[in-house]
Amino acid sequence: MVSKVIPVDDFDLVIFGGTGDLARRKILPGLFRRFIAGQMPSTSRIIGAARSDIDSDGFRDLVKDAIAEFGGPDLQDKDELPAFLAQLEYVAIDAKGDAGWPELAGLVRKQLVNAFYFSVAPSLFGDLAKRLHQHDITDATSRIVVEKPFGRDLETAKALNATLSDFFDEGQIYRIDHYLGKETVQNLMAVRFGNVLFEPLWNAKYIDHIQITVAETVGVGGRGTYYDRSGAMRDMVQNHLMQLLCLIAMEPPSQFEPDAVRDEKLKVIRALQPVEPHQMVRGQYDASDETPSYRDDAENPRSHTESFVALKTHIANFRWAGVPFYLRTGKRMTTRASEIAVVFKPIAHSIFGPVEDGNNVLAIQLQPNEGITLDVTIKEPGPGGMRLVNVPLDMTFAEALGPEAEAPEAYERLIMDVIRGNQTLFMRGDEVEAAWEWTDPLIAGWEARNDVPKPYDTGSMGPLDAHALMHRDNRQWREVKG
Ligand code: NAP
Repeated sequence: MVSKVIPVDDFDLVIFGGTGDLARRKILPGLFRRFIAGQMPSTSRIIGAARSDIDSDGFRDLVKDAIAEFGGPDLQDKDELPAFLAQLEYVAIDAKGDAGWPELAGLVRKQLVNAFYFSVAPSLFGDLAKRLHQHDITDATSRIVVEKPFGRDLETAKALNATLSDFFDEGQIYRIDHYLGKETVQNLMAVRFGNVLFEPLWNAKYIDHIQITVAETVGVGGRGTYYDRSGAMRDMVQNHLMQLLCLIAMEPPSQFEPDAVRDEKLKVIRALQPVEPHQMVRGQYDASDETPSYRDDAENPRSHTESFVALKTHIANFRWAGVPFYLRTGKRMTTRASEIAVVFKPIAHSIFGPVEDGNNVLAIQLQPNEGITLDVTIKEPGPGGMRLVNVPLDMTFAEALGPEAEAPEAYERLIMDVIRGNQTLFMRGDEVEAAWEWTDPLIAGWEARNDVPKPYDTGSMGPLDAHALMHRDNRQWREVKG
């Protein structure tokens, strides 16, 4: 089987914040990869926009350097680079003033698909939306892409939704969560809804519990003072982990169509149960011999912000009654790995006598390597009787699909979805608000209790209490592989 590159219509894509970290690290190398794949029509353009006083040639140099630095081995020394750079333009613009806007208005071709990526601080989203409208650059067909964080609580998210909706319809707003652009996350839906095998077992009768882990080895150094106003709950749980939970837990949508999928995700968020204080552990990493402590990184010796959180929640509906969902995420952990694990119940009666660790587990790895495995029990080969072993069955099938099946990176896939006008993998405004509605009381609760995060060793998997959270239920966290 060979993957197809589906052509897109001619487009103008404006990247506000085109000189910034995210643009250089992810967006621009990703677009070059799509260019090489033949997905950027020759008359399409990418227009960088930021305050830096450079011209289009200066921007091309910046993009060339960004591809060299962040593009990965597959993008180095490519013959296609000059042709890609020729399709780039730059406009010096200030989101908070009128400089540059008439030039941008002259550049963007309204008759084409036009999209505007807000890769700037969220405090500028409203200014950009307003000026795009004032300068008559957008119309009812234009699309805007907004980055996280989408608010810091329900109130600010509502205000941001209201501001954007003054100028754009919901169908024009693409709230990006790059976790949803990962090949494996979509493969999870294919595995669930495209096979007869899993869906009948996908419920409280057969599933023991679900674990979602997003572990990072980096600290918050560099952006510590920013992070200290946010913390793991706002930075990771409210968006990435909850989106993953939604995809695991949602009912099958009637069609794989944006609002059908997002309606089902919304129902999951609304059915999420509150988390009691004893079902949640917050942590802060200690210093190691080589690295500073969280509080040093955050330049706040009395910080109560969490760099780690683990919690247990339930979904109050028919399918999931009684099934715990365990979520954990943190910085400076043992390994960089993200995994969703669907742990099935043990078989009702073993004809082979007691079987240790015999649960079937469907494990979806998101990073560093993407893949899906299903742990199944088989007979250990060879003589000596019926000894059973649990082995992972690789369901990624990369070999079966061949090298052509190489997955595009999350950002590039999502940007192409914007150009195609497909919102399935983007968060709708009501979803984001519902997610804050669930997280706000948890945050308010620990603030009212003046909860102090538990220290944990750099290079560990979080405070011991996070393990106790599992042990109390006679379960344990899976060892995630980096
Ligand atoms: P950044 O490196 O600070 O870049 C900010 C960009 O905005 C720069 O290009 C800057 O260029 C431009 N800018 C600042 N003020 C401006 C103004 N008044 N008018 C026009 N342009 C202005 O930030 P970033 O890390 O790229 O993050 C961008 C957005 O993505 C943020 O919302 C962030 O939360 C989100 N995000 C980033 C990452 C990541 O890995 N970096 C990951 C997830 C989400 P000039 O100074 O030249 O104007």
